[in-house]
Amino acid sequence: MASDLEAQLRAVSLRVTQPRLAVLAALRDHPHVDTATVIALVRANQPTVSHQAVYDVLRTLTDAGLVRRIQPAGATARYEARVGDNHHHVVCRSCGAIADVDCAVGEAPCLTASDDHGFVVDEAEVVYWGTCPGCATDRIAQ
Ligand SMILES: [Zn+2]
Ligand SMILES: [Zn+2]
Repeated sequence: MASDLEAQLRAVSLRVTQPRLAVLAALRDHPHVDTATVIALVRANQPTVSHQAVYDVLRTLTDAGLVRRIQPAGATARYEARVGDNHHHVVCRSCGAIADVDCAVGEAPCLTASDDHGFVVDEAEVVYWGTCPGCATDRIAQ
């Protein structure tokens, strides 16, 4: 497993370091977590890794395209290791839960703009807003 992650780092010419491996592993196992959660997950295994180191690693991995940063309106930034497949997200308005939704057509930009104003569109970021099953159940119970 670790060697997969090492190969990912090498593929984008990043040096393999323990904090980078730890952040990638945390995001592989826990998609759509915020920075504080990434720090907690990494430090559970590697208590010596500083908060700043995790911030730096997240920025480096995001810039390198190994990690995707998403930020639904009104939410804190979340990170995930599922990249490059143009998938979308469904977000619960009540509790902020996030789940992946596969790209409708399988490739970017997924949606054709009704008017692209001459822009070459290469990405459409779709957020589906609604109520997750847990919150829907709570609402019925009240
Ligand atoms: Zn919810
Ligand atoms: Zn996702």
